Amino acid sequence: MSAYDFSAHISELAQADQLRARRLVSSAQDASMVIDGQRVLSFASNDYLGLANHPQVVEATTRALKKYGLGAGASHMVTGHMAPHEELEERLAKHVGMPRALLFGSGYAANLGIMSALAGRGDVIFADKLNHACLNDGAQLSRATVTRYPHNDVAKLRTLLAQWRESGCISGSSVRNGARIVIATDAVFSMDGDVAPVPELLELAEEYDAMLVLDDAHGFGVLGYRGRGVLEHFNMIGTGKKPANDRIVYMATLGKAIGGYGAFVAGNEDMVDWIMQSARTYLFSTATPPAIAAGCIAALNIMAEDHQRRRHLRMLIDFFSDSLKLQFARMPFSQTAIQPIIIGNNTTTLQFAELLRERHFLVPAIRPPTVPQGTSRLRVSLSSNHVADDVFDLITAITDIEVTLLGSK
Ligand SMILES: *Cc1c(COP(=O)(O)O)cnc(C)c1O
Repeated sequence: MSAYDFSAHISELAQADQLRARRLVSSAQDASMVIDGQRVLSFASNDYLGLANHPQVVEATTRALKKYGLGAGASHMVTGHMAPHEELEERLAKHVGMPRALLFGSGYAANLGIMSALAGRGDVIFADKLNHACLNDGAQLSRATVTRYPHNDVAKLRTLLAQWRESGCISGSSVRNGARIVIATDAVFSMDGDVAPVPELLELAEEYDAMLVLDDAHGFGVLGYRGRGVLEHFNMIGTGKKPANDRIVYMATLGKAIGGYGAFVAGNEDMVDWIMQSARTYLFSTATPPAIAAGCIAALNIMAEDHQRRRHLRMLIDFFSDSLKLQFARMPFSQTAIQPIIIGNNTTTLQFAELLRERHFLVPAIRPPTVPQGTSRLRVSLSSNHVADDVFDLITAITDIEVTLLGSK
């Protein structure tokens, strides 16, 4: 095969049932959407609190759009840092109990910037095996030595850290004196919905003088009674003047529960300042449109005050997982809006998703390389915009299809 024969490469993907296709959406984000010309009940979005198309959010965005226009026109460090950005940073920091927050263009850009600002050649990064792609890419970009530990395996991580301390080298690469150590983990894992053991990881960070990077893209707005995310979940919210622990590098995105676009990092003042001074994806990229920042402020207000949304979502999560966990042995325990049903092989998973779609339910089939080989799954995302009947109907459909397709019971 010629190196440039891209059509052959694509055929290979198709053969392995790994070809991806986009769907055309012609309605706003909601429980019910028009996708590829068909009205479906969508269980496929990260808009967990139904804020992407909330009237107050749309209105705040429109108002800012009229005042500030479309684009920021420059990076934050030149002339792109506008009043809505500043206000959003202050509000986000306060919401997660941190002294300081810094906005990034996207979660992907944030993780590239954060990881390469915190670690460099001669430093060492310990990363969970199931971390999101952009934490991995950030770790690679930093040029630090990267070691991946088995998923949520604190004991194994402790062993790796001890080995590193004893030998001064890891995976064959030697580490410089006074090296920084970064432990990086998704706070909520994006394909499994489970939560990282943050208190135990923080203990290790203390013991080994490391920083702890938490990517809370899926926990922010969902976890904690006030939606403050994984830190609230573990009762580790800081005072606002001080983080609960200076080693915490808290990152979350604005494209999921906030329903907007962008991301932020929050933590102790000096660390955030350092990231601002050195993260290349911050310095060399245009600031997000100011109207988006204004819309995110409106969404944050609702997220912080409208507890009914979170309560309803929590009820749906419990209802869904309680109903199906007995039926699917391989349904990982998840207390979040991400509810995976592991099917195994690609073909059956695709068929399952297709049969759901014939019944007008949109549930994505997630396949390698997004998840490990042999763990293809349906990934159900719940939102406070769903009503209990929506979830009931989905459970019924899944149960029916399981019998015809997998022949069980
Ligand atoms: C979605 C996601 C990101 C990327 O955020 P974007 O703003 O979409 O670029 C990063 N980390 C995790 C865990 C995510 O799920």
